[in-house]
Amino acid sequence: MKARHIGRRQFIQYASAGVALAGSSNKATWGADATAVPQSKGVADSITSQTDVLVVGGGTAGTIAALQSARAGARTLVIERGSQLGGTMTTGGVSFPGLFDAWGKQVIAGIGWELVKESVELDGGRLPDFSKVPNHHWMNQVHVNQFLYPILAEEKCEQAGVAIAYYEFPQSIARTTDGWQVECAGFGTRRHVFCKQIIDCTGGAQVVGMLNLPRFREEETQPGSMLFLLGRANNPGRGHGAPLSPLGIRHYVHGADSSNSRTVTAANLSGRRNVLAIIRQEKQRLMHLQPETSFRESYRIHGETVITVDDYVSGRLFEDAVCYAFYPVDLHTRRGVRPQPLTRGTVPTVPLSALAPKGSRDILVAGRCVSSDRPANSGLRVQASCMAMGQAAGAAAALAAEKNITPLELPLKDIREILTKHGAIVPTA
Ligand SMILES: Cc1cc2nc3c(=O)[nH]c(=O)nc-3n(C[C@H](O)[C@H](O)[C@H](O)COP(=O)(O)OP(=O)(O)OC[C@H]3O[C@@H](n4cnc5c(N)ncnc54)[C@H](O)[C@@H]3O)c2cc1C
Repeated sequence: MKARHIGRRQFIQYASAGVALAGSSNKATWGADATAVPQSKGVADSITSQTDVLVVGGGTAGTIAALQSARAGARTLVIERGSQLGGTMTTGGVSFPGLFDAWGKQVIAGIGWELVKESVELDGGRLPDFSKVPNHHWMNQVHVNQFLYPILAEEKCEQAGVAIAYYEFPQSIARTTDGWQVECAGFGTRRHVFCKQIIDCTGGAQVVGMLNLPRFREEETQPGSMLFLLGRANNPGRGHGAPLSPLGIRHYVHGADSSNSRTVTAANLSGRRNVLAIIRQEKQRLMHLQPETSFRESYRIHGETVITVDDYVSGRLFEDAVCYAFYPVDLHTRRGVRPQPLTRGTVPTVPLSALAPKGSRDILVAGRCVSSDRPANSGLRVQASCMAMGQAAGAAAALAAEKNITPLELPLKDIREILTKHGAIVPTA
């Protein structure tokens, strides 16, 4: 596969007039030379990207999926609607990923852990001691600097050859003879992506929804939260030893829904309105506010396997398990949350078939939209687990692209081999 690898700057990009734009020149890539930039004549510039794996959503799971895919030798493009990598972990401000450990040992490692560990070390922070079982599960969450993590992630993407397209999102998707054509929009940009495999890491399985593949959603979903800080300076990554978060206040945004731009706008408006009311009430200075609401729940896929809460709390070892997950069942309601810890020694697993939408080919998901019932999902949605799913999906998509088959047709041992080679911990019988 390595021989076929094409780095970021070698991506083939064409102007609508058929003029090669990017080639190997930074100047053309960034449009610094006015003469090299196509005149838009009232429409957005038209770009074509030919890639093996398209990752939609560069958040908690998507960043890791893209890195694993590129490191496995696949040409990889990540399309992210926002301005940076990390998603809920960075833009949402939930910068305390958990849980990499269970019952005194590390159960999730690999590329997600590499990024978390390096950003803590670079920031002079502290890593938990995973050999100790803490009194409360949240004590072993890792406090990460939410500003440093996405920069480090960008550097790693550049080194791996992942192409990043910010401010873009898919508008339509169609099958081609050997994969997908995905039409993406950004401001001033229309991108035609031709790819073999898609990994939907949008949180709410938006690409799966566009393809009319089956998804689950409850009438009532868990609230989102707007994270902010009053009265004292934000100290990212350091934590305050409190059970809540390094960012002092997490205010529920009930009805927050990440499904589309209208519902996200509504959640942000409502969240900020609440913050203003709290400032007035508390008469304290606003020292920090995240730019977006963070979302706990929207759609989950109906996959080839649906992880049930019984599977989750019994630590079922799926035949096609590709990673572990670990967290209490943690369902937030209007009355708050009462986490239900797993029984000692239990470590749930995630099968590859829970990342594949039922009846689909050439598309996987990773992250909180994993196929699961609602209570199981409330535990599966945490960041270390999302990262592990991202790595598994990245490995499977890269290999499937190389072999021109769909991920579920791959020999599991080949996927597991890539994962192990890249530091992941793979459950075994
Ligand atoms: C308030 C709160 C507290 C939490 N507490 C914890 C905790 O203590 N520990 C823990 O580990 N986890 C916690 N979680 C859960 C965890 O943070 C999330 O479930 C997890 O980060 C989701 O990861 P993801 O990759 O699925 O989605 P995200 O990280 O949200 O990534 C999705 C990405 O896709 C992008 N995107 C969306 N739609 C499109 C589109 N159409 N086109 C292009 N890009 C798109 C988004 O901009 C985003 O970058 C918490 C969550 C919340 C909301």
